[in-house]
Amino acid sequence: MQLRSTHRRAPLAGFREALRRGLAPDGGLYQPVDLPRFGEADLRAWRGLRFDAIARQLAQRLLEGEFAPEILDRVVDGALDFPVPARPLGEGLSLLELFHGPTLAFKDFGARFLARLFSEVLREGGEHVMILVATSGDTGSAVARGFAGVAGTRVVVLYPAGKVSPFQEAQMATIGGNVTAVRVAGVFDDCQRLVKSAILDPDLAPLRLSSANSINIGRLLPQTFYYVSGYLDAARRPGEPVVFAVPSGNLGNLTAGVMAARMGLPVARFIAATNANDVLPEYLDSAAFRPRASVPTLSNAMDVGDPSNFTRLAAMYDGSAARMGEDIAGLRVSEPETRAAIRDAYRRFGAVLDPHAAVAYSAALRFRHAAGSRAPVVVLATAHPAKFAGVIREELGFEPELPVSERGWRSRPLLAVDLPLASPAAFKDLLTGLSARSS
Ligand SMILES: *Cc1c(COP(=O)(O)O)cnc(C)c1O
Repeated sequence: MQLRSTHRRAPLAGFREALRRGLAPDGGLYQPVDLPRFGEADLRAWRGLRFDAIARQLAQRLLEGEFAPEILDRVVDGALDFPVPARPLGEGLSLLELFHGPTLAFKDFGARFLARLFSEVLREGGEHVMILVATSGDTGSAVARGFAGVAGTRVVVLYPAGKVSPFQEAQMATIGGNVTAVRVAGVFDDCQRLVKSAILDPDLAPLRLSSANSINIGRLLPQTFYYVSGYLDAARRPGEPVVFAVPSGNLGNLTAGVMAARMGLPVARFIAATNANDVLPEYLDSAAFRPRASVPTLSNAMDVGDPSNFTRLAAMYDGSAARMGEDIAGLRVSEPETRAAIRDAYRRFGAVLDPHAAVAYSAALRFRHAAGSRAPVVVLATAHPAKFAGVIREELGFEPELPVSERGWRSRPLLAVDLPLASPAAFKDLLTGLSARSS
């Protein structure tokens, strides 16, 4: 697989190089030059297969020639060892539950797959790498858990102080070992800026920094897999176009969906469902991309004011908002609408939605109503509702239970390091100190 930077000022890279770098040297994001294609015959053959079998097939096609087939199977089997059930709600709507991984959010797909690919590459070369990840909540825990104990890696997770839930904080800051959690006085966008500046800083090159945010192409590839499996569960016959409602923040999930469509998945429309952080819907309406500071909402993993993957989406549509709008409908969902959606899904279908899935559900209903569309709609449910027990209690009067494995989180000690000033210089000192300690 050859990859091109979205800024087009860096040389083409092979897959391993793109995986290792995360960000291209010109500050752009790596994007595959070509994607493999599949057709209706493939969809027919994959129907009825388990998720991991579909994932194996797609991984082989995407990374053919990059890794031996048995290595790819090992990566898929190790990373994607949890179920991906589609729950039919009725009236042509279904919920694709992407939250059965270890951190109860869909980011486990990308983070676990990436961690295992990295470990295969490092094993070959006897190398080490320091992975930086900025998180608004779910990415950090998924990446930290994905890399915990992986030889040759140190993971540094940056999160905004006071802006993630206590459970999310526990999931990333109680691991220790090769995982360092950094609590930043700032917002998610500050964390993301610190990561970008460190990776582009020539002084830090000896640390072999890489990023595991959704900017790393290795995270996006496995996210195409569940679009295919969700499609096969929802389509009444292979070939029928399906609508996907995607709760969107940094736009990695949506980008992976568009990649799956480019590979041949019959998609009627993507609904990019956002909360008040509506940079993408605004772009689709006005053709103006106006990144700005994020505002806090109930669906906090989507509180992104300057979505990194926008540059990938824009590149896939040659910078044309009009063409992007043919594939993607951008809908903004307010806080009262999110709460109403939680009540509505429970009342009508007995489904308990976390606030992120609720944003997508609300947008899906509005889209169907406005478009008069009868295509099946798959709502991506990106987090387990128990991660947002407070708002569920307020709306439904009870708290969903965490899976047994996660119930002891309150008793684990927090090991976070504080970064009181969100400045690149302070972060650089911290990284240099960490690398001195681990070598
Ligand atoms: C990260 C996240 C999102 C947003 O996904 P993007 O790929 O950043 O658009 C939505 N829901 C949950 C629960 C998340 O953790």
